[in-house]
Amino acid sequence: MEPVTSRGAVPVVIGPAPARPAAAGAADASPARAGGQPARGSSARLRGDGLVDRWGRVATDLRVSLTDRCNLRCTYCMPAEGLAWAPDETVLKDDEVVRLVRVAVERLGVREVRFTGGEPLLRRGLEGIVAATAALRTPDGAAVGTALTTNALGLDKRARSLAAAGLGRVNVSLDSLDRERFAAITRRDRLPDVLAGLRAARDAGLGPVKVNAVLVRGVNDDEAVPLLAWALEHGYHLRFIEQMPLGPAGSWDRGDLVTAREILDALTAAFDLVAEPTGARGAAPAETWTVRGRPGATVGVIGSVTRPFCGACDRTRLTADGQVRSCLFAREESDLRGLLRGGADDDTVADAWRAAMWGKKAGHGIDDVGFLQPARTMSAIGG
Ligand code: SAM
Ligand code: SF4
Repeated sequence: MEPVTSRGAVPVVIGPAPARPAAAGAADASPARAGGQPARGSSARLRGDGLVDRWGRVATDLRVSLTDRCNLRCTYCMPAEGLAWAPDETVLKDDEVVRLVRVAVERLGVREVRFTGGEPLLRRGLEGIVAATAALRTPDGAAVGTALTTNALGLDKRARSLAAAGLGRVNVSLDSLDRERFAAITRRDRLPDVLAGLRAARDAGLGPVKVNAVLVRGVNDDEAVPLLAWALEHGYHLRFIEQMPLGPAGSWDRGDLVTAREILDALTAAFDLVAEPTGARGAAPAETWTVRGRPGATVGVIGSVTRPFCGACDRTRLTADGQVRSCLFAREESDLRGLLRGGADDDTVADAWRAAMWGKKAGHGIDDVGFLQPARTMSAIGG
């Protein structure tokens, strides 16, 4: 099957890969602003090359969604009734996931693989997929970094087996320490299970354990300081994520967004924060601060909406049903599942993946007049 790409066809090799732009500042992060024009030779694609886009960015960080299903219903992510889940036959089997990850690591320059969803702990074969990924080596013989983004329900029982399988790190999503608020946000009364999962992850050595928090206006927007105090006490690395227009239709209102600025104002009123040195951020989405007087403690803010970092983005995404997305906000996907099941060899799959990434847009465009929310929500894409 011909992969569907934003460019319609696999581009042809005519020249060397464009150079990566100099690291862009957080507030001036679109490649259009950072680098000026798209790289020349815009139909360039080198067999054996990595995942280069026409703005010169190189994707080395793969996000793999293992399921679009979830056992929570966070208001900013999913409607209360859930979604129309992907039919089972469209979801990649374990061996198909592992094959695509292998192609990405061995042929496309991917060095970090993060498993997500939906809720990745719902995937029975997770340990096996992690073990197969951890056994991969890049062409220069390096091990691949592995990580999991999870709501931590059931992690208390699986943290050890995941660590034994070779999992490196865990990010746990937790928006409130108040049981009633947690239940209001997630529509499930499961805060104690999340806290148990977090402890188990730390005890199993899946660290540094990061905690992701989304603040919602009028619900938990007063919890920035208590969440950081709690994270410092328990040795977790807290990161706040600005809410993005990737949830149920009508659930996002820019005017209601709890911004990175507001979060930082609240934190700096209570803690002595020291910004990480310029340039230390690399492609990381979070701006990070250390907390004076607390050795090793950090807090991050991911200002996806008000402080976009698209110019430094190094991500490529694979959905649970085998579609490559160049961006969370992409409106196009490229079908690798059809290629796999149609008998395509690894070269063909790799070429289709490169072509998909070549078409990556300069930025997410949330501020553009014509911005349209992607048809799939965060849980279906893989956050
Ligand atoms: N279920 C897992 C979890 O919650 O960690 C993994 C998938 S979830 C989609 C990944 C991350 O996306 C979570 O940290 C969640 O808070 C975040 N997220 C979901 N919807 C979001 C939105 N509309 N804006 C910002 N972050 C969102
Ligand atoms: Fe589930 Fe994660 Fe979405 Fe919450 S954010 S509904 S835990 S996929």
